[in-house]
Amino acid sequence: MTQPPAIRIDNLVKRYAPTGGGEGKLALKGVSFDVPQGGIFGLLGPNGAGKSTLINILAGLVTKTSGSAEIWGFDIDRDHRNAKRSIGIVPQEIVFDPFFTPFEVLENQGGFYGIPRALRRSEELLRAVHLADKRDAYARALSGGMKRRLLIAKAMVHSPPILVLDEPTAGVDVELRRQLWELVTEMNREGVTVVLTTHYLEEAEQLCDEIAIINHGELIAHKPTRELVGMAREKIVRVTVDKDLAGPVVEPHFLKAEVTEPRTLEVTYDRDAMSAGKVLALIQSHGYTVEDVTTREADLEDVFVQLTAA
Ligand code: ADP
Ligand code: MG
Repeated sequence: MTQPPAIRIDNLVKRYAPTGGGEGKLALKGVSFDVPQGGIFGLLGPNGAGKSTLINILAGLVTKTSGSAEIWGFDIDRDHRNAKRSIGIVPQEIVFDPFFTPFEVLENQGGFYGIPRALRRSEELLRAVHLADKRDAYARALSGGMKRRLLIAKAMVHSPPILVLDEPTAGVDVELRRQLWELVTEMNREGVTVVLTTHYLEEAEQLCDEIAIINHGELIAHKPTRELVGMAREKIVRVTVDKDLAGPVVEPHFLKAEVTEPRTLEVTYDRDAMSAGKVLALIQSHGYTVEDVTTREADLEDVFVQLTAA
């Protein structure tokens, strides 16, 4: 038997109410995809693509215009309470009451979900996000990174099977980003299905097993990460030659050839049509001797550029 998805999104549309005249922003134009159980799923897209809108609909913070969504099998309209209990959401914006301690923040959240005091996991969660020693500090005295970690603990208070993080690492330094990745990976290893939105391609490539890309409110790709990266058909080879180039070397099979320095040429080619060796041979056939070569492997960025260029 196949497992039901952790999240099912079906033809989701969101049009924000107009602020002045006009029609209002159509932020989601009928998006459908499933998030499988058990993995780390990336929702990727440039700023303004509609990522937060989608997450906030799941969180019950934004009302959808049409379409439907299920969280852990519970419809967000018909079975609102169970849907909400099945998901923990770390919003993009950090909002906190600065006068509570981390321990109190988690206890209050436990109370909000009606979890009896004896069954709350505040201490355990503080340890999990490496904040046990800040148990009784004022939240306002925490660093930005500590606040993010506390928000993750807060999202997990009711032990949901799904954790959603909206741009957890936007504007975060390298060290903290590494910490957050570790934390997310740890939670996933313990069985939590993780969804994260990001506009960092490298992050999605390293962390996520499966990626959905949205652009201008539309789903433009949804595949396992490895397959998505494999879609990059264009490759680039940079060649340094022995004398100044008279101009870009023109060959019908080069998608692009650009002189970047007097003696350096960057050639973009279709990897299905030719090889780097063939590119070099063609350059040499124009009377140049090749002195240095670097190639760049395709990565998610290439795919992203290909897909979002349209
Ligand atoms: P992302 O999270 O991918 O950056 P958002 O979901 O925040 O994108 O925004 C998608 C689009 O909807 C953007 O054009 C944004 O300006 C617009 N938008 C977001 N929130 C509102 C709102 N409350 N009212 C009107 N338009 C909004
Ligand atoms: Mg956003």
